[in-house]
Amino acid sequence: MGRFPGAMARQADPDAIAALATAPGQAGIGVVRISGKHIGSIIEQLIGAIPPPRVAKRAKFTGADGEVIDDGIALYFPAPASYTGEDVLELHGHGGPVVLQMVLRRCLELGARLAEPGEFSRRAFLNDKIDLAQAEAVADLIGAATETAARCALRSLRGEFSKVVADLARQLVDLRMLIEATLDFPEEEIDAVDQERAQASLRQTTEALKRALEGARRGQVLRSGLQVVLAGQPNVGKSSLLNRLAGEDLAIVTEIPGTTRDPVRQTIQINGVPINIVDTAGLRNATDPVEAIGVARAWKAIEHTDVVLLMVDARAGITAADRQVLTQLPDGKKRVTVFNKIDLSGDAPRTAECGDGWHVHLSAMSGEGIEGLRRVLLTLAGWNPGSEDIFIARERHVVALERAGEALERASDLIGRSELFAEELRLAQCELDAITGKYTADDLLGDIFSRFCIGK
Ligand code: GDP
Repeated sequence: MGRFPGAMARQADPDAIAALATAPGQAGIGVVRISGKHIGSIIEQLIGAIPPPRVAKRAKFTGADGEVIDDGIALYFPAPASYTGEDVLELHGHGGPVVLQMVLRRCLELGARLAEPGEFSRRAFLNDKIDLAQAEAVADLIGAATETAARCALRSLRGEFSKVVADLARQLVDLRMLIEATLDFPEEEIDAVDQERAQASLRQTTEALKRALEGARRGQVLRSGLQVVLAGQPNVGKSSLLNRLAGEDLAIVTEIPGTTRDPVRQTIQINGVPINIVDTAGLRNATDPVEAIGVARAWKAIEHTDVVLLMVDARAGITAADRQVLTQLPDGKKRVTVFNKIDLSGDAPRTAECGDGWHVHLSAMSGEGIEGLRRVLLTLAGWNPGSEDIFIARERHVVALERAGEALERASDLIGRSELFAEELRLAQCELDAITGKYTADDLLGDIFSRFCIGK
């Protein structure tokens, strides 16, 4: 027995976690969140008593010396009806970095530890509150660069993508049951009727999988967007083009979470697809050290760019100075050459695929030909407007769906050979299960959740 009677009951949860759930900086309010299996003693010491479940309760957040750190709202979500599936307490205080740090430090004093990035969501996953694709959608919703991406992330978060994947997996289970029943009686051939049924059902599942793959591919485009490097001499109309492309949608200039403002990068959207543009004009004159960091980062981004967009004055064409810039850019990127100011040169607006990439004639000023450029950029992004059912998706989802599709293709050639057929179905099912995290390696989980922000 411990030295203090009742010590066990009052002992803090050894694995309670706490973090600031709102972005650092000054704001109207800020939220500190705590999650753990037994956080009752932390709550009592922090705000005096455990608040009623799911009711906003005015509370004084108190320090070790009994002095009030802040006066705010406490929200208590007892397990299992909480985000993590554990007991969760949210403290809504004044949104100042110092006062919130004091509240957070007090939670740590009381036995919680600082949450790792994504740890709340990881617990939600481990406690079966959400599956892996939903957990990923949480991060994707937070990181969404356009409204379309945000809407699709929310659909994934609400489980629509997971449901599509689970339905596919269920169809495969049914098919396996049909076939595996015959495996126990190898002397009996699968009769023609069963073969016919299996074939029809496989075709149906393959079609559904193709649709899911198409939706996931589009979701991946929405999530990562198209990386474009904008090159061109001063005064050819680069800023005018950016403004024109941003158009009525209004440029949503996003910063990469957790990094300082990068002056040579901005994100616009075309039909909801994020287009991340690195402006090489900003790469030339980095005298300020902070800007130099941005420039170094921009060069790094250029290594991963999908498209190099060279803008020239239609009256002058590609100049020696343009060629000079082009030599500094990595080889093997898709190229678009924009011939601007056709209102002055008298050219007609047009797009054409040439040996060195796309050529687009337009006027950033009048807007003539801009639609053509939008179409070219969406084509290069792999955006196919014909399909429906988009969910935010990641490369690993697309790869898993592709592999499942390949297994089904192999299976269709093996329909008479039950064991091999069943094995291909099993492989396809494993790929689908990995998407929702039914079977997922620990290191993959670590990789996924470590990219979340702290406090989510
Ligand atoms: P940047 O230095 O490449 O960013 O070029 P700007 O966008 O600042 O444009 C330079 C000048 O060209 C400005 O006076 C623009 O109004 C003008 N300009 C840009 N695009 C067009 C165009 O399509 N037609 C005409 N006539 N002028 C343009």
